[in-house]
Amino acid sequence: MEYKKNDLVEVEIEDIGHDGEGIGKVEGYTLFVKDAVIGDHVLAGITKTKKNYGYARVEKVLTPSPFRVEPKCRFYRQCGGCQIQAMSYGRQLAFKQDKVRNNLIRIGGYDENFVDFVMEPIVGMEEPWHYRNKAQYPVGCDKNGRLITGFYAGRTHDIIANTDCALGVPENQWILEAVLNYMQENKVAAYDEKTGKGLVRHILIRTGFASGEIMVCLVINGKKLPAEDKLIEKLTTIDLGSPEKKLVSISVSINTRQTNVIMGEKIYTLWGRGYIEDSIRILEVQERETESAAGDIDFKATGDAVTFRISPLSFYQVNPKQTEKLYSLALSYAGLTGEETVWDLYCGIGTISLFLAKKAKQVYGVEIIPQAIQDAKENARINGITNAEFYVGKAEEVLPEKYEKEGIYADVIVVDPPRKGCDEKCLETMLAMRPKRIVYVSCDSATLARDLRILSEGGYEVKRVRCLDQFSQSVHVETVCLLSKKP
Ligand code: SAH
Repeated sequence: MEYKKNDLVEVEIEDIGHDGEGIGKVEGYTLFVKDAVIGDHVLAGITKTKKNYGYARVEKVLTPSPFRVEPKCRFYRQCGGCQIQAMSYGRQLAFKQDKVRNNLIRIGGYDENFVDFVMEPIVGMEEPWHYRNKAQYPVGCDKNGRLITGFYAGRTHDIIANTDCALGVPENQWILEAVLNYMQENKVAAYDEKTGKGLVRHILIRTGFASGEIMVCLVINGKKLPAEDKLIEKLTTIDLGSPEKKLVSISVSINTRQTNVIMGEKIYTLWGRGYIEDSIRILEVQERETESAAGDIDFKATGDAVTFRISPLSFYQVNPKQTEKLYSLALSYAGLTGEETVWDLYCGIGTISLFLAKKAKQVYGVEIIPQAIQDAKENARINGITNAEFYVGKAEEVLPEKYEKEGIYADVIVVDPPRKGCDEKCLETMLAMRPKRIVYVSCDSATLARDLRILSEGGYEVKRVRCLDQFSQSVHVETVCLLSKKP
């Protein structure tokens, strides 16, 4: 049977694809069905066909899956930010665990039984909503010329007015409304991407979850914002709904280029400080006697934490509650006693490095972005950490150079690379350095599996693997993995 675009077919959804789409078969022909949930029986409209498979979208849910839930956000299908919002949270977690498991088997080449032996249960979120500490909203006009702000509809630059994202914090809405009011009253125009005219391009809001400190940064297509005092007045008089929350920084970022890059390089502070501070607690990982819905481990506060200074341009993890668990897990896998020399590759602003420094003799961080290394050094300083040193450069260049020229040594190497994983030269050098343990933190299980295979073939054994959900409602999953040197 041949199918073509716009055909309507009934499909039983039996699997989930990498991007969260439903997968089903009609007479042996595989369909990837957008917005379908595993277990659904749907009427699907075909959008594109290839020889052996095709794409479709849900026209009607005929029999809903037991895993289907009412999406919280009414823009969920248009936005594309939350690919699996219609799936129950428990099923989302199972999907993520399976995705990593399958990649370890398929790409990593590990035996199924071995993978099941080393994989520990995924760490879910206690509250899978309102977890993001950062949001960047584009500003524009609707068809009637009314000022709006919200988000881009999936794969377009059309702005859909919505100030109430279910992943963001509630005060974002009040802040956005205050900015729009200021613009309206003072006739400040929104930027128009097509013509390159108009002033306000984006509104960036960041909240320190531990500190309660809030930063607002307006990105503008110009040198200066008119009636600045009026904006300051609007923002500083907002009732933030809680005594713990306080606005501490209003700034302006200048971006006059016609580009998709949101932030401009020049930033000036309009009011308050140029940064917010936040801290990430170091938690102790405790095994539980009995496994429950909350998982098989508990995270206990140790009273210790690392403070970070975050400017509008700084990189900072967007889900701080899960980040502290992720880094505490990585720290526990590193098994430090205070005697170790540790290398932290792809260290960003030194988040993991400073965690490690609390328990190691000496930590060295390597990161490609010079500004991030500046932040890392500053963060070490404000925390009084003196046993962490940082280098700017590519991990695959800095590490081999230091190893070949200076004969550097590591007891433990931690890596947290971007999605494309580690460079081969970097892996080769790690193997040559023969550390006792390697801790691999990954945001892409396909490249993780590829790299683990190389490390396994080079004399290391995968000991423990644990997934952690940093981005509920989306298909992303973080994984921490411990390898140790084979005797
Ligand atoms: N561990 C940090 C950052 C992880 S994100 C944290 O959690 O905060 C990955 C980091 O790797 C980014 O900061 C990115 O700038 C950096 N990076 C990308 N390619 C790199 C390379 N080849 N060598 C070193 N760092 C790199």
